[in-house]
Amino acid sequence: MNRKQVAKYKKLLEAKRAELLTRVQAARASEQERGAEDAPDLGDRALSTQTRDLRYNLSTGEREVLRRIDEALDRIEALSYGECLHCGKKVQQARLDAVPWALHCIDCQELQDLGQI
Ligand SMILES: [Zn+2]
Repeated sequence: MNRKQVAKYKKLLEAKRAELLTRVQAARASEQERGAEDAPDLGDRALSTQTRDLRYNLSTGEREVLRRIDEALDRIEALSYGECLHCGKKVQQARLDAVPWALHCIDCQELQDLGQI
């Protein structure tokens, strides 16, 4: 993948990340208005207080996406973006267009969905 393509995906990832973080911040603001007492316990006690607060009102799926976006951005820095984490082959560009934070190629993703890797 050339630098121009990587830059495109980086932009997509950062836009999605900003969108998710904006939602966290909006959720936090309304949480503070309501007071913290009636906040739900997500049972995420292993996380630091700060991290837990920041990610408080994201659904599990959204938190997972945020984590994967951070990983994908790390992989861009490490110049390994676009390689399947499992088999090391290039992840199909159509797949990255749909899911820029994808860590696996389509074949390996299917295996993972089946719990085989
Ligand atoms: Zn693969």
